[in-house]
Amino acid sequence: MENNKRQISLKRAEELKGRIEDYLEAKKTIPKGLENQEALLERKNKILSVLGGTEEDWNNYKWQLSNRIGDVDTLSKILDLTDKEIKRIEEVGKQFRWAVSPYYLSLIDPKEKLDPVKLMSIPEFIELQDNVDDLDPMGEEFTNPAGSITRRYPDRLIINVTNECAMYCRHCQRRRNIGQCDEAKSKDVIQESIDYIKENEEIRDVLITGGDPLTLNDDYLEWVISQLRAIPHVDYIRLGSRTLVTMPQRITDEFCNMIKKYHPIFINTHFNHPMEITEETKAACEKLANSGVPLGNQAVLLNGINNDKFVMRCLNHELLKCRVRPYYIFHAKHVKGTTHFNTSIDDGIEIMEYLRGYTSGLAVPTYIVNAPKGKGKTPILPQYLISRGKDFVMIRTWEGEIVKYENHPSVDIKEVIK
Ligand SMILES: *Cc1c(COP(=O)(O)O)cnc(C)c1O
Repeated sequence: MENNKRQISLKRAEELKGRIEDYLEAKKTIPKGLENQEALLERKNKILSVLGGTEEDWNNYKWQLSNRIGDVDTLSKILDLTDKEIKRIEEVGKQFRWAVSPYYLSLIDPKEKLDPVKLMSIPEFIELQDNVDDLDPMGEEFTNPAGSITRRYPDRLIINVTNECAMYCRHCQRRRNIGQCDEAKSKDVIQESIDYIKENEEIRDVLITGGDPLTLNDDYLEWVISQLRAIPHVDYIRLGSRTLVTMPQRITDEFCNMIKKYHPIFINTHFNHPMEITEETKAACEKLANSGVPLGNQAVLLNGINNDKFVMRCLNHELLKCRVRPYYIFHAKHVKGTTHFNTSIDDGIEIMEYLRGYTSGLAVPTYIVNAPKGKGKTPILPQYLISRGKDFVMIRTWEGEIVKYENHPSVDIKEVIK
């Protein structure tokens, strides 16, 4: 009998091994930052020599920020661009600004035409050929009750503190705010936002976003954070920043020490591809985690970059190694100049289908479609509740088995425990 149980278990274990074989095979071909450190070092040295920078400069975020590459002359010394590409990048740049931190540029494999980091950071001509005409499908302009606030939910809101980023994502959903120059919000506008929060006691969660708030210096950020922390009904503060990905040098000891004074603080970042996870980003994430900041990731589902069940699984595993918990996968919105990145919702559902059960619950974020006109984040899942009867439901397991599950009304606890 005992022997039989062991045999059944062994047979089941074999079956489970079979469920992961395709992923283990596919994983080998997915480029990962942590496995490409040598190539990254080579490219870093090349960029440093083009820009005339030192190792110390590289590690200084202020150098990274003020040496963002945003002109084709410099770019063509780093990537191999054809004349046609150069002309096209210039053309797109007139309409949609671009700039890339030297660090983030070093992640691009110059030989790879469809390099995921390149697609996310270097303009493509298709941005100008977009039929979609909406720059604000979320109607953010209609959910701005004061200052630079976006309020779409009962108990939480966003304050936008700047339009500056370390790199301007080609898929940016707020590109209408990016314009052609960097503009931190003035103290007056931020003060008006903070006053609104003070006056509205139901607001218990404040997200500081942009642009990228971590392009601001520590003093300015501390001015915002300390005021929010002084509001008794604000339970915690969240920062949304892509600098962990695009300029990890920003996560300095000074910044961590400042943040520690205002806990609970959460940071959500935006990794989209395993190639973005390098020794440098890992160190930045660890520093923040060691400073008591829980880290989450908000990926965007992007055509040609991560709309693949195995790439997304691999990304989530790489994130967890860096102590970043996958939080959301956002369905890309239809914003003018970005729609070549749009995927079908079916791509998103397939990704979710091959996460749950196949990997740790920790590696399963929520897939979100933002309802148009700012009507809110809407979760989308594969169907697990298949049908229901009077005293039962039919559910589908992660492996696709349909099983009956009993379902009765909850009893009144006061009636049964006396
Ligand atoms: C996304 C978002 C939030 C935060 O939503 P969570 O689901 O709590 O992470 C808050 N306000 C606005 C306007 C948002 O777009």
